[in-house]
Formats: sequence, C-alpha cells, structure tokens
Amino acid sequence: MRSDAAVPLHLAQTAEAALGRIDPAVARILDRALSGEEISSADALALWQTTGPELQALCQTADELRRRAVGEAITYVVNRNINWTNICFTDCSFCAFGVSAKDPSAYFHPPERVTQKALEAWERGATEVCMQGGLAAQLTPQRYLEYLRAVKDPLPDMHVHAFSPAEIDWAMRKWEGSLEEYLRMLREAGLDTIPGTAAEILVDEVRREIAPKKLMTARWREIITTAHSVGLRSTATYMYGHVEEPRHLVAHLEVLREIQRETGGFTEFVPLGFIHYNTRLFNEGDGRPGPSFVEDLRAHAIPRLYFAGLIDNLQVSWVKLGEKMSQLLMWCGANDFSGTLMEESISRMAGATAGEYLAADRIRQLVWEIGRVPVERSTTYRHLRTYPTPGVHQPATDIAPHPALLGAA
Ligand code: SF4
Repeated sequence: MRSDAAVPLHLAQTAEAALGRIDPAVARILDRALSGEEISSADALALWQTTGPELQALCQTADELRRRAVGEAITYVVNRNINWTNICFTDCSFCAFGVSAKDPSAYFHPPERVTQKALEAWERGATEVCMQGGLAAQLTPQRYLEYLRAVKDPLPDMHVHAFSPAEIDWAMRKWEGSLEEYLRMLREAGLDTIPGTAAEILVDEVRREIAPKKLMTARWREIITTAHSVGLRSTATYMYGHVEEPRHLVAHLEVLREIQRETGGFTEFVPLGFIHYNTRLFNEGDGRPGPSFVEDLRAHAIPRLYFAGLIDNLQVSWVKLGEKMSQLLMWCGANDFSGTLMEESISRMAGATAGEYLAADRIRQLVWEIGRVPVERSTTYRHLRTYPTPGVHQPATDIAPHPALLGAA
C-alpha cells in the first residue's frame, strides 16, 4: 500500500515523493540515506527490487547525495590503457580478451613497446597509464618491475595505475618473499595506484562458476588491504549482469565497505556491466545477456547510497555503457566519466561497440550538455583543470610538456 502520510520529510523534497507514489518501505530507506544514516545490506537488497517511481526516487536520492558529496563537477582523467599481453592461462568464462599462447591473435609486448606507448600518451596529454594484461607464463615478478621502469624511467611524472590483484597474485606464485615486501618493491619501482579489478563478484560461490582458476575472495581482500597498507590506493569495482543475483551484489558491496572502513584506500567505485556477445559464459553457459536498463540504474544508484561518507567518487564505464547511458547515469549518483583510454581491448573483444577512445573535448561536450561542469582530474581526484564555460576549451591551468619529449632528458 502506498500513502502520502508515510512519506518522510527529507524524501518529500524529491519530485516522486511529492507525488505520493512511493512505497513507504522504500521511502523510509531513502529518507534514512538523505538524513545521513548508513543504509544496511538488507536495505540495499530491498532497493535492488525497485522499479517504476521507487526506482526514479532511488536515482533522485543518489543524485542528491552525489551533489552533497562532490557538487556539480564531473571529472575525467586523460589516460591510456596498455595491455601488455592477451595471453592468459586463467580462461575466465566471462572474458573474450585472454587467449592461449598458441592462438594466432596472441601477443606479448616487451618493455620497449610499453615505453613507446607511454611516451605517445604523454605527448597526447595523458597524466596516467593504466596497465593490465593476461596471466602469461612469461610474466615473472621481475618482468612486472621492468614494465614499471619502462614507464617511470623516461616519464617520472606519469602516474602508473597497474596490476590487478589477480596479476599480483600471479607474480606471488613465483616470488619467495612476502606479499608486503613485493608490493613495497613495486611501489619503489614507480607503481602509484592499482586497479581494483579481478573482483567481479566477491562471493566464492559465484567466482567458482565464472572464474574458478582465479584468486578467491579472501586472497583478493588480502592483496587489496596489504596494498592499501603500504600506501598503494586502488579503485573498487564489481561486474554485474551475468550469473549473479542481487544477494551476491550486496555481499560484494559489504566486503568493499568493510575494507574501506578499515583502510580508506579506495579512490572510487566503478560498476562494470557484463559485455556478453563473444563470451563463453553467454554462448555456452548460463550467463545473462548483460544488464538491463534498470539494472544499470540500480547498479550505480545503490552504491552511491551504500558508500555514502566512505567513497565519494562513482565512475561510469563509457566503454561499456556508451555515451548516452553514461550521461543519464550522471543523474543517478555518478560523478566521474573515467578516462579517455586511447586504446581498449578487453570490452571491445567481448563485443562492446562504444569505441576505444573518447577525446577529452568530447567528454567535456557530453558533460556540458547535461548542465554540469567538466573537470580534468589526476588519478587520485586532484582537480587539474576546470572548464566552467560550455564550448570554451582553454584550460585555466596547463601541464608543461615533459622534458623527455623536448629532447632535454
Ligand atoms: S579476465 Fe583476466 S584473468 Fe580472466 S581470462 Fe580474461 S585476461 Fe585472463
């Protein structure tokens, strides 16, 4: 039953509540979130059932919490993805990127190729390289260190965001020292932050189904918390729209919230919708054909409420969502457009069609169109340039070309 009388005061400020069409149970959860109270996992599970006016109200609530947390800025980073190899032994059923070493499409970049790509990225204004790859036999702990030096030696100011917990786990299989020791070595060699990928769903029941050879939840958590403890912050992610159920998504969010309370090391949360077209999970298994429209809305809005006061930044993955859906989600709690990428293989191989490169001026245009303010950021969300005036591309500040590109180093 729905009634005006049951709609609490804070929620009455939203358009849907004003119409009195909100289920009182949902209204109470949203009101608690707007009052600054933490929502429980049971609340999050209830929100995963919303549709119609309740889902609209959820999105409005997420939008209001976004406004309070980070204002009207929509941030983005100028970055380049570098995937040094697509050779991978892990064979996750949701992945169309990893191939065996004998596959005709297999490749393996030497460190010199990584240097070349990083220099090209710097020349195009990138402040970050995001480097990940398959789990290939050739990738020793030393090789990962060489990849770091391949970027940092010529470009000490380039932020290196690299090595998922799965890659760190892979390196540790051939490393005789401790995890902490290896992470400190990576940091000293130039690693700045790590991607919180390879998370998929942090529930072993799901992991055993979609990625049985990959690290399980406890190991993922150990690697992330140890990385945070040595000063390597990370992103946080989940992958939705495949075999998982809402209870798995909530359990996943619970793990991340516990970690964030403990370490404060997550810079942002990034929902990643499953791209199904070329995957074994969809074509031979039980995987759903990616998330529906309403799942995309919930998958972004609910974390904005669930992480309120703990993780301020909520990122859209334009490569999976496309431009228009990314814009819409900026009204459902999101505040970050992710990066320009320059090259992207993982979603593209799975069948995503949004492209490999979104130029910074295109991102700014998309942000202006929805009445917000584009801001170029660093990887760790330091604002570098603000573009308050639509159509005016001159930044307020600029970054000088690196000496290596001027022939001075
Ligand atoms: S998701 Fe990563 S670990 Fe799994 S098969 Fe693909 S490249 Fe390998």
